Amino acid sequence: MNMTRQMPFRKRIALVAHDNRKHDLIEWAEHNKVVLAKHELIATGTTGTLLETQLDRPVLKMMSGPLGGDQQIGSMIAESRIDILIFFWDPMEAQPHDPDIKALLRLAVVWNIPMACDRATADFIFTSPLMHDTYECQVPDYSVYLKRKV
Ligand code: PGA
Repeated sequence: MNMTRQMPFRKRIALVAHDNRKHDLIEWAEHNKVVLAKHELIATGTTGTLLETQLDRPVLKMMSGPLGGDQQIGSMIAESRIDILIFFWDPMEAQPHDPDIKALLRLAVVWNIPMACDRATADFIFTSPLMHDTYECQVPDYSVYLKRKV
């Protein structure tokens, strides 16, 4: 059975950036300020504080990523409370919370959430006409998995 959920016009966008990628994300956010203004922003702690200062608007801040913020955002994805994930993770440096990063990346795919891990992909998502409309998003069917015999 195919299930869908309606992604609203005003999207709930989660933003996370590792320290070496924060500058990149803030610059990108400044560039996309007008589009971002139409949506709700959620972020891990430090990223959220930087975004609030740069964009001069409130951001719903979770805990700092390594202290549980990535997991908080992951659980919001599982509960259909996030529509888009912008996650600039650092490909050049190991992170202390690597399992949390992997879990967040995984949950975005489990729940079919558009996810950008670099500026080019974020630009493609943000210039999509779907950003300015509602979107009928496919929810993967896990019923067979849930009914499996163990
Ligand atoms: P931070 O967390 O925004 O609190 O720095 C980001 C992360 O490392 O997951």
